[in-house]
This record gives sequence, structure tokens and C-alpha cells, in this order.
Amino acid sequence: MTRFATRSVLAIAVALATVAGAAAQDNYETTEIADGVYQFRWIGHNAMFVTTEAGVVVFDTIGVDAARRLAAEIRRTAPGSPLAAIVYIHSDADHATGAAALMEAMEAPGVPIIAHELAVAPIEARGSADQPAPTVTFADKLRFQLGGRWIELHYLGPSHTDNIAVPYIPDAGVAFAVDFASNDRAGFRDLATWYFPEFFDALSGLLGIPFETIVFGHGPAGDRASIQRQIAYYDDLTAAVRDAVEAGLTEDEAAESVRLDAYAGWGNYEQWFPLNVRGVYRWLAGDGGQ
Ligand SMILES: [Zn+2]
Repeated sequence: MTRFATRSVLAIAVALATVAGAAAQDNYETTEIADGVYQFRWIGHNAMFVTTEAGVVVFDTIGVDAARRLAAEIRRTAPGSPLAAIVYIHSDADHATGAAALMEAMEAPGVPIIAHELAVAPIEARGSADQPAPTVTFADKLRFQLGGRWIELHYLGPSHTDNIAVPYIPDAGVAFAVDFASNDRAGFRDLATWYFPEFFDALSGLLGIPFETIVFGHGPAGDRASIQRQIAYYDDLTAAVRDAVEAGLTEDEAAESVRLDAYAGWGNYEQWFPLNVRGVYRWLAGDGGQ
């Protein structure tokens, strides 16, 4: 190898190390959404936490590694504040794993784990030590006060699953919606676990909560107009797929031909829009066609 080549290899190695370092830092990000309300992003997932004078409430822990990083971020933003409670927004393991790791990292064993009552069965069936079962459940609405702050959990019915809690922090005007709404992004793949038509009521039900800012389980936060756009998207998607079904197109033909150009700039549109078409097609061509 010539001297020049050796240097080039070294230069490339240094460049790769720099990129790897930057990528590691980009794995997470903590953003103050409102006074004492934080979005914690871990790779592509968002959790939320709220600080009060009596401790911190965490909404989703995402995973074991995420929870350990989250503990460090809580200590950084709210030094000395104890962990008071964990809320599972819904039962899916990719959002609700890591509670045990968070309790351990924050030296707060046995804090309440709050979830919707229908989240218990799928979590217990999974039986993961990294996803301990909820210890406090609710059906329609749960409201509690901690350190002078009110925290509400709303249930809007089945949507992406049947057990999604929607937190709302009244004094900050912030809500948190996971996996059934987002800020200008298509739905997740073929909407396989979604409940139709109940999903539409849950989505519009968000607007019955008087939030100003809304954090999502994936992607950037939004506002009330974000939810109006989500409603318009799913209405337009349903109308377009209904036309395809009524025209006699097969699912493959519909996935190939249905387009909603107004949403072409949305996140994940290219990969997931044709799959969204398939999900709605299966509903409409099944029991939802009437
Ligand atoms: Zn989910």
C-alpha cells in the first residue's frame, strides 16, 4: 500500500468515526413543548414527561435502552425530582417497554403504572419482565393531581388498538396521541390492527379535548389544525378507496391506482400510502362496505 493510500484509508476511518459519533447523539432528543412538559425522542419513537413539584410523570418508556437514557434526561431537566408514576399509552411493546429499567435507574421501585383497562390482557399475555403489568387502570377518564398539576387521561374508544390512553395536561394545553394520529404523516403500513369505523370517532374525539399543542408517538408535534388535516386525510382516503371498490377494482389494483396527490408531501407517503389503501380496502370490501 502506498503512503497516499494509507492516509486515505485513515482519513476515511476518521470520517466514519465522526459520522458514527453524530449518529449516536441523534438517537435521542429532549424538547420542552410547554412549561415542564417534555417530548423525549428515542430514534423514531416519542415519549413524554411532565415535571411537577412532587415528582415526574412519564408517558411511555419505549424500550430498555430508551428508558435508561430517559432517566438521565429527566435528571438533567428536573434535578432531584423523583419518579412519581409511569403511564403506558397503549399495550404495544415498541412504546411501552422499559418501565422496570426506568424505575431502577431512578431508584423508584414500585411506582404506579397506569394504563387503560384493556391494556392489561395483552401485556400479561406477553409476560415480559421488561414490561411489568399496569397497577392502576381506568375505563373512560382518569384525573389526578400531583404537585399542584392536574393530569388527565382520556379514552376515546378503539382506534389503532382498543386500549389507547390520551394524556392531557390542562395548565399547559398539551395532549399526547400515539399511533392513531400524527403531524402530516400517513398511517402505519396497512393499518392492520386498526378498528374501523371506530377509529374515525377516536380521531375526531381528539378535538373534544381542549389542547393547543399535541405531541405524537412518532414525528414532530402539532396543533389542532394537525388533527383537522388527519381527519381530512382519512376521509379523503376512505372516499377514494370506496370509489375503487364500487368500480370493481381488486385490492392490488386499488393499491396500484389510488393516489391522493394533495398528501404526496406527507411523511411516509411513498412507502405507506399504498398500504393505507389496502387497509381501508379490506375494511370496505369486508364488513364495512354498507
Ligand atoms: Zn402501537
